[in-house]
Amino acid sequence: MAYNLPVFRGILNLLIGLQVTLRHLFSHAVTLQYPTERWTMPERSRGVVVLLSNKETGELNCTACILCAKACPCAAIMIERHRGDDKKWKIDSFSVDNSICCYCGLCEEACNFDAIKLTPKYEFSTYDKPSLTYDMHRLQELGRDVAYTPRVRKAAAAPAATATTEAALTPTPTAPKPATETPTNPSEKGESA
Ligand code: SF4
Ligand code: SF4
Repeated sequence: MAYNLPVFRGILNLLIGLQVTLRHLFSHAVTLQYPTERWTMPERSRGVVVLLSNKETGELNCTACILCAKACPCAAIMIERHRGDDKKWKIDSFSVDNSICCYCGLCEEACNFDAIKLTPKYEFSTYDKPSLTYDMHRLQELGRDVAYTPRVRKAAAAPAATATTEAALTPTPTAPKPATETPTNPSEKGESA
């Protein structure tokens, strides 16, 4: 009997090890049958960066201010721009290198024009690393169906010199004092009497 003791001990350890397997064998499965099934990502999850467009005109909201590029800690955003005839910046190219982007969301925070946004979109892996740099056209197409609520901006301060203010600051002419004077000299009173 002592000869078979290691065998029984091995079977016992095997059954102990299979306890977890047996416990989960008849419980509800939590795995998804990917790719036929997919997680619904939370609305504010940080996936791929996209560029947003005006829903009516279809034009990019980007004003080429480059605040997002300055805020990016990974230098993943590259922007080329020039001054237009109207002295405003015009965007020539805009690209995001997803191979170095850390999905921090700082670019979205820095943008004042609802122009760049991180979306719940994912599944962009590839074997071709250079193709992970998305140009302006691709970023815009990825952002076409992205819903966003335009930021509420504070109203600009009212100009200092309005007509109302000027009227309020103009001194109101005071009514002239009556020209009557009370005679102080008693002799004058007697003369008059
Ligand atoms: S995406 Fe926003 S922050 Fe970046 S350049 Fe365009 S307007 Fe400026
Ligand atoms: S999410 Fe972060 S790392 Fe990626 S482009 Fe925006 S600022 Fe740069």
